Amino acid sequence: MTPGLLIGGGIAGLTAALALRQRGIAVVVGEAVPQILPLGAGIWLAPNALQVYERLGLAAKINATGMLLDTIALVDGQQRPLLHADQARVRARYGHGTTAIRRAALQAILLAEFGAENVRFGHVCAGFEEDATGVEAHFTNGAQLRAGFVVGADGLHSRVRAALFPEARAVRGDGYRVWRGVAPLPLAAPFQRAIREAWAGGLRFGFSEIEPGVVDWFAAVPTSFDPARPGLQARLQAAFAAFAHPVPDILAAADEAGIIHTEVARLPALPRWHRGRVGLIGDAAHAGPPYLGQGGCQAVEDAYALALCLAQTPQDPARAFAALEKLRRGRARHVVRTARLMGAVGYLAGPLGSLRNAAFRAMPDWVSERQFAGVYGLKY
Ligand SMILES: Cc1cc2nc3c(=O)[nH]c(=O)nc-3n(C[C@H](O)[C@H](O)[C@H](O)COP(=O)(O)OP(=O)(O)OC[C@H]3O[C@@H](n4cnc5c(N)ncnc54)[C@H](O)[C@@H]3O)c2cc1C
Repeated sequence: MTPGLLIGGGIAGLTAALALRQRGIAVVVGEAVPQILPLGAGIWLAPNALQVYERLGLAAKINATGMLLDTIALVDGQQRPLLHADQARVRARYGHGTTAIRRAALQAILLAEFGAENVRFGHVCAGFEEDATGVEAHFTNGAQLRAGFVVGADGLHSRVRAALFPEARAVRGDGYRVWRGVAPLPLAAPFQRAIREAWAGGLRFGFSEIEPGVVDWFAAVPTSFDPARPGLQARLQAAFAAFAHPVPDILAAADEAGIIHTEVARLPALPRWHRGRVGLIGDAAHAGPPYLGQGGCQAVEDAYALALCLAQTPQDPARAFAALEKLRRGRARHVVRTARLMGAVGYLAGPLGSLRNAAFRAMPDWVSERQFAGVYGLKY
């Protein structure tokens, strides 16, 4: 069988490459960037993603490289608790809790396992043509690759998706931008090994240790907060000045040059995730806003489910893609909707914000843990 081609060597693409190889399906990855740079912030990997990595034999390495977290807490601007999810109980149930890891470190682990020689770096997919026996993909550097099937794992602004469904475009999202970065800052005991997300005044600030003495953070502000204006760090510090320790200290310690920015985008639901021998996974298929810390984890689930489906009908990728969508679409949609809801609720300010805080405080831990459990369990 002609090898498959994965467009995009991000979390979805590299995880899919490994899962497919585990099932004896040969693939090549075409990745736009010339090399993976040790830049960017971290990612929180939840138990659903770690269960997949367990099956791929990588969970121990990921957990040893990242930081195992003990709690996830929503708090108000003064760090007073709103909701709390104990990761020890989650770990007892699913075998894994949540792990914080640098994105570049995760990609390095995946790439080392798959073999960098199997990734065509500097290959920006420009389009493809399908015929009776395969797909011919072409790249902006002039290269052509023939494949038995193509998987678009090329993220929110997917070129593969644009070719399949030109009308389905990511549009401006909920009026917020997210800034993120890392800061060298030892945290005091209550903040160690914990995700804290503070909500106040229509702003949110989340952070966790990613390595001992290093904090991964994000700050969500309205889009009126102009990325082009100078003095970014000072402006962020001013916006979050009323937030209690350690938020101002994290922003003060952040390396301004390393702060990155994402505008929250909205991807309407696609009519389908596939056409013929071409399918989509990860953000290319179902990107949501980043308020649940699940976009990457859902991409990992897609990757694993893709391998299960292709292994069932290796000669019929179209059927495998249809089976993948059937398996994954409902769950991915639930996660996107929940993330949107968490976005809207988290930005409430004034009396509505106070009402939300009172309602969240009244909620027993087991209720919030049950909500998380709905996302953490794997169905396959
Ligand atoms: C602020 C923020 C915080 C987040 N935090 C979390 C979190 O804690 N946990 C979590 O699970 N998720 C989180 N997410 C979501 C997560 O980052 C995404 O869902 C995840 O990266 C999607 O993975 P992907 O591989 O589908 O796409 P991407 O990560 O976007 O990877 C796509 C890859 O395709 C390549 N590519 C693009 N176009 C082409 C082309 N034409 N040809 C070839 N290659 C191409 C890109 O270079 C890239 O390597 C967060 C998102 C944001 C914005």
